[in-house]
Amino acid sequence: MTAIKAYAAQSASTPLALWNLERREPKPHDVEIEILFCGVCHSDLHTVRNEWGGTIYPCVPGHEIVGRITRVGDHVKKYKKGDLAGVGCLVDSCRECNSCKDGLEQYCENGMVGTYNGQEKDGSGNTYGGYSKQIVVHEDFVLRISDKQPLKGIAPLLCAGITTYSPLKHWKVGKGDKVGVVGLGGLGHMGVKLAVSFGAEVTMLSHSASKEKDAKKLGAHKFILTSDAAQTKSAANYFDFILDTVSAEHDYNMYLNMLTTNGVMTCVGAPPTPARVPAFNLIMKRRSLAGSLIGGIPETQEMLDYCAEHNIVSDVEVINIKDINESYERMLKGDVRYRFVIDMATL
Ligand code: NAP
Ligand code: ZN
Ligand code: ZN
Repeated sequence: MTAIKAYAAQSASTPLALWNLERREPKPHDVEIEILFCGVCHSDLHTVRNEWGGTIYPCVPGHEIVGRITRVGDHVKKYKKGDLAGVGCLVDSCRECNSCKDGLEQYCENGMVGTYNGQEKDGSGNTYGGYSKQIVVHEDFVLRISDKQPLKGIAPLLCAGITTYSPLKHWKVGKGDKVGVVGLGGLGHMGVKLAVSFGAEVTMLSHSASKEKDAKKLGAHKFILTSDAAQTKSAANYFDFILDTVSAEHDYNMYLNMLTTNGVMTCVGAPPTPARVPAFNLIMKRRSLAGSLIGGIPETQEMLDYCAEHNIVSDVEVINIKDINESYERMLKGDVRYRFVIDMATL
């Protein structure tokens, strides 16, 4: 075991603070990565504060990890010491079920292992995430990272990037489609960039008037302030596809009513409270309400390669790990342009 420094929450109501963590020695198929940057996802905050229930403490969050490989096990074929590497939201799965065989490990029928707050398949305990100096992961769950783009901007692709890429691909969003992205945060800003790159007409649906300029800069063609009734009314029956990235309780029906006949609204945002959706809002125009969870390993690699090829990265504010608790408060206020990324040299 190797003792390393990390930031952990000891309970739902205590701030994140320095904690020492033991990482396993690399097994034959393991890769050991020195973490250089780790993005800050709203899921980290939901988990640390036990908003979804089921958090095991101490909790070390972080699943937007990029770094450099420091050691590899004897049987590792895909990577070598010195390579750049990424780790996203999952570090293991059963590899045998239909979902795993289809490269959809996030939907593993026997339960995927989250990068943090998960249970190791070998019974060795809880998983700890990227707010730490180092991580040891089976090579099958490690991603190749381009050396052509800034690492800090690549880190958020490992969650915010794949979580928006996967549904846009699954529902075949492209040229001629009218797409609405709800919520301009970490996921939302990647959703805009990716949908624009796929050739769609993209409208940002935000409750923050101050984000209009940025939305356009990110490539959105239109902006709707969702607190303005006249603006939302003008979008009735308009969109083919809506990607909802909102982290807090909100009314799904306002957005469903913006879908055209056969339109699809996909929720990726995961508010802790359930939503009320009358069947009539779906029935009347044969609309679909769907959900999507991150992405599997093959698609995550595809997304990273696509972003490298099209020079797409996340817009980030790099922070010192000592400022993580204050950054959570700013994230709750929507005061992040558009992803905090921790510089792990500060740990
Ligand atoms: P974030 O950066 O905090 O962005 C969330 C955005 O939601 C905010 O910027 C804000 O955008 C909007 N919003 C916040 N409170 C709102 C309210 N009360 N009413 C309306 N809009 C509100 O969070 P994130 O990291 O992008 O994550 C977003 C959600 O996705 C979280 O719930 C997270 O857990 C979830 N998530 C899901 C997956 C998955 O696999 N499905 C993966 C990662 C994250 P505006 O100011 O523009 O309105
Ligand atoms: Zn995430
Ligand atoms: Zn499986």
